Amino acid sequence: MSEPLPANQPAAFPEHNRTSIDFRVPMPRPKVVGPVIDFHCHLLAAHHAKGWFESAKHFGIDQFVTMCPLEEAMGLQRDWGDRLRFIAVPAWREVTGNWLDNFMNRLEMFYNLGSRIVKFHMAPQTIASRGYRLDSPQLRPFFREVATRKMAVMTHIGDPDTWYHGKYAADVPKFGTRDEHYQMWENVLAEHPKELPWIGAHMGGNPEDLPRLQRLLDLYPNLYLDCSATRWMVREISKRRESAREFFIRNADRIIFGSDQVSGDDRDLDFLASRFWCHRKLWETAYIGPSPIYDPDLPVDQQPVMHGLALPDEVLQKLYHDNAVKVLDAVGMGFGF
Ligand SMILES: [Zn+2]
Repeated sequence: MSEPLPANQPAAFPEHNRTSIDFRVPMPRPKVVGPVIDFHCHLLAAHHAKGWFESAKHFGIDQFVTMCPLEEAMGLQRDWGDRLRFIAVPAWREVTGNWLDNFMNRLEMFYNLGSRIVKFHMAPQTIASRGYRLDSPQLRPFFREVATRKMAVMTHIGDPDTWYHGKYAADVPKFGTRDEHYQMWENVLAEHPKELPWIGAHMGGNPEDLPRLQRLLDLYPNLYLDCSATRWMVREISKRRESAREFFIRNADRIIFGSDQVSGDDRDLDFLASRFWCHRKLWETAYIGPSPIYDPDLPVDQQPVMHGLALPDEVLQKLYHDNAVKVLDAVGMGFGF
C-alpha cells in the first residue's frame, strides 16, 4: 500500500509496526506434525529469498506456494526448490501482442517447471483494466487447456467490503457489484472438473459474508478457501470472531493457510515478520490487542483490534499442513513427505 502515514503517527513507528512490537522475540513453532505450508504468497525474486526464509524460519513456516514472475522462477527453483512450489501467473507488466496468448505460453513454461496450479486475478479493478471476465468466451480455450493438463485453479474474486462501499460504489457501471462478480465465478466454477481443486483466495474474497462462503463450499465439493491477506483477515475475522471461529472449525477440511506475504527490495525482516506474526496470533491464540499493522482502509482512530481465534490443534493441523498436502498431491505437485 502506498498510502502515506497519517500525520499523527510518529516516524519512529513504521506502518508495519505501529505498536512497537519486538517481532524477534522467539515464538514456538505451530503445533503441527510435518512442515507448515504457506499456500498463497508472493516471493517475487530470487534475491529476496534469503531474508524471506530467515523470517519464515523464525515463525516456523517451512514451505511456500508462491506466485512470482516466470523470469524469477528458475533461480528460485534451483536454490530453494525443496521449499517452493509455483503457481502459474501471467506476465507482470503489459505484454506486446495478445495478453491471453502470452499467458498461455507462460502456462506451459510454468507447467514445465512443475507447476500444476494456475491463478486468475479477477478482482473488480483487474476486470475493468484487462477487459476480460472469468467467464469471457475468450477464456474458454484457456480453461480447456488447464483441465486437459489436470491443473488446479486459484482465483481472486471480490475485494473487501470497504472497497465495495467506497470506490466501487462510486462507479458501479465500471466495477460492477459483488453479486455480479460471484455469479461470474459460479458460471465457471460449475463447469470446472470436479476432481480438480479450486482455491478461492482471501477466504473466497468475502470474509465479511460467511453464509455466502458456506453456500459455495456446500455446493462445490472441490472448492477450498485460503485465509491469506493479512490486513483484510485481521480486520474482518477479528470483527466477527465467534462466527469466524465456528466457520473455521466447521470447514476445517476446506481452509488452507496462506499469508499473501509479498517480498520486496524495501521489505526487511521486520516487515515480513509483521505479516507472519499477525497470522500466527490470529489463528493460534486468543490474543486481543491492537494490530501492529496500520490499516489504510480504516480511520486512524478506528484501527483494528485483533481477536485471535485460538483454533483447536486438530484444526490447525489441517489449516497449516494437511489440506495443502491434499490439494498439492491431488495435482501431482506435492513436496513429497
Ligand atoms: Zn496474493
